[in-house]
Amino acid sequence: MSVATITECPVCAGDVEVAGDVIVGELLDCGDCGAELEVRALSPELRLDEAPMAAEDWGE
Ligand SMILES: [Zn+2]
Repeated sequence: MSVATITECPVCAGDVEVAGDVIVGELLDCGDCGAELEVRALSPELRLDEAPMAAEDWGE
């Protein structure tokens, strides 16, 4: 069974719920700020970083 974990968003410091069966490299969305987050490590503790943006072209 998987137990969700609450961890801190590196962008807005809000709570992010992470499923218990995530894998390194999985992408999540922060429900608070909408940032795309990447799972960087599972141990010794769950660690999230802001995912690199695929495109920095915001249109002009
Ligand atoms: Zn956030």
